[in-house]
Amino acid sequence: VARLLVVEDDETIGSALRSGLSAHGYEAVWVRSGRSALRESVLGEFDLVLLDLGLPDLDGVEVCRQLRVRLPACVLVMLTARDEEMDVVVGLEAGADDYLTKPFRFPELLARIRAHLRRGSVRAGSAAGPDVVGDLTVDAEARRCLLGGMEVPLRAKEFDLLARLAAGAGSAISRATLMADVWDEHWFGSTKTLDVHVAALRRRLDEAAAGSGARPVRITTLRGHGYRLETAAG
Ligand code: CA
Repeated sequence: VARLLVVEDDETIGSALRSGLSAHGYEAVWVRSGRSALRESVLGEFDLVLLDLGLPDLDGVEVCRQLRVRLPACVLVMLTARDEEMDVVVGLEAGADDYLTKPFRFPELLARIRAHLRRGSVRAGSAAGPDVVGDLTVDAEARRCLLGGMEVPLRAKEFDLLARLAAGAGSAISRATLMADVWDEHWFGSTKTLDVHVAALRRRLDEAAAGSGARPVRITTLRGHGYRLETAAG
């Protein structure tokens, strides 16, 4: 049974989420503040967190950042109001994997949760060998990324994105394909999530290349189409 943490101070939304998720077979723990969320995160493991960004006690983005550190393998989905668009980008940079803008329909949320959790279990059962591109090795089964023999620390979605790009190294991969394969096939929102994650990935790979002396990894932006992981370092 997947274990979910719901962080939401709105009584109506919080109780609807808890009962709806329980009705669909999830174990849902509901807390109403950032401090309670951080407390829960040290008490037990969670597969996914739904995090309202507008919390009464702590800054939602800061809570997001701390949850990312405490629950590295957990999927973090932010719940945001329309006027918190800027916070979405900051939240994604702070380690969130996805976001949903309020008001959302429960079936949409459920589809998103299912896609995230299914992807996690598919990942765990994958039997494909590691992808090697230049000095880069991406082992989807072990969920390890090595550059020049040194491990590159990546967040969950950064790893998924790199694994997808490495699986198709040398080929152009469209934004739609990346969004569908790495996030959700039922994606309704903006795709800035993708750009933020590509930017973070480039930064981490550049740092790792500089640190290990390996050949740099190049992810080329294909305007109006998507991205390509280059096979020849240059
Ligand atoms: Ca709120």
